[in-house]
Amino acid sequence: MRLKKLRYRSKLNCMPSYDVVEREWKIKVNANECGMNLPPMVEDRVMGRLSRIAFNRYPNEDLEQLMEAIASNYGLQKENVLIGNGSSEIIEKLFFAFGGRNLTIAYPQPSFSMYRIYAQAAEARSVVIELNPEDYSLDVRQFIQKVNDSKAALAVVCNPNNPTGNALTIEQIEDIAQHTSCALLIDEAYVEFYGQSATCLLKKYPKLLVARTFSKAYGLAAIRCGYLLGDKAVIDMVKKTFMPYHMDVLTLVTADTVFQMRDEYVPRIQQMIAERNRMTEQYKTLPGFTVYPSQTNFILVRCDLAAELNEALAAKGIGVRCFGNSAGLEDCIRISMGTREENDAVFAAIKAFAESEGQK
Ligand SMILES: *Cc1c(COP(=O)(O)O)cnc(C)c1O
Repeated sequence: MRLKKLRYRSKLNCMPSYDVVEREWKIKVNANECGMNLPPMVEDRVMGRLSRIAFNRYPNEDLEQLMEAIASNYGLQKENVLIGNGSSEIIEKLFFAFGGRNLTIAYPQPSFSMYRIYAQAAEARSVVIELNPEDYSLDVRQFIQKVNDSKAALAVVCNPNNPTGNALTIEQIEDIAQHTSCALLIDEAYVEFYGQSATCLLKKYPKLLVARTFSKAYGLAAIRCGYLLGDKAVIDMVKKTFMPYHMDVLTLVTADTVFQMRDEYVPRIQQMIAERNRMTEQYKTLPGFTVYPSQTNFILVRCDLAAELNEALAAKGIGVRCFGNSAGLEDCIRISMGTREENDAVFAAIKAFAESEGQK
């Protein structure tokens, strides 16, 4: 059979592949994962529950139970909660729900690179609002104007923003909600490291949607679980884009246990914030480095020879995220916070590179 003759959906061949094949890093600080596995007490509880799963049944009560637990934490009903395979699935489906040929989705740039890809997949038009190149701040008035002028169906703000690390205040988010009429998604993947959430605005602005994930602060990237909070009518529409039984029980039971035991994570999150602040000060001491203030679990730095630095680190088994020549992120490297020892080792390697370059 000649595979060349297969007729794929139009424009599929132009879609980029998100290549996640990884090397075996000694220190992996390239994907904003948590540097620690489950706390031992949580692990025991998860393993106990996993051993009692009815593998022969489609998921049912486990989904309801997690939805109820999440809803009650925010003073909402379970009808206000949509659970997905990572917030990635939620964002993808939301773009699908507000996409299609005649609709526009607006978001700042640089931000999460997947927004462009999901918009493309949903056949929606993308309108990007450039962040200020000096400090990556968002001009809120300009954002509001572009969202309204483009008649966007959906506006997206990642807060705090990946990969720049900075955040809007809740007042700024409310300003956007108040002065636009479209659906507004706040992607709060890193909110636990910031402490200010837009969830307090949900009841006042039914057009507002907040996406959360268990992958970052709760260190559950492996199970793929995230959720969306919003008005029941909007959640019901977005829900139509999901297949039945889309969440598996292994994920639901693990996420539910972690959510119940979330107090166990408070000290770790504090520690990750402290590490971010400590390392920010350290990176600032390197000559020629611009260090962007971060409200997340990663730090974005800009330096000459970023590509060479990335190579030098890779040769030592250290994986960071280098942005190559992505728009607005030229010469930038993003370093996720790992354990204290890992952070020190990554810093030492970067310092050694900076000093050897300085002597040339
Ligand atoms: C990591 C990340 C996500 C997706 O995380 P999931 O693992 O799919 O839940 C979403 N948005 C941003 C900005 C992220 O950095």
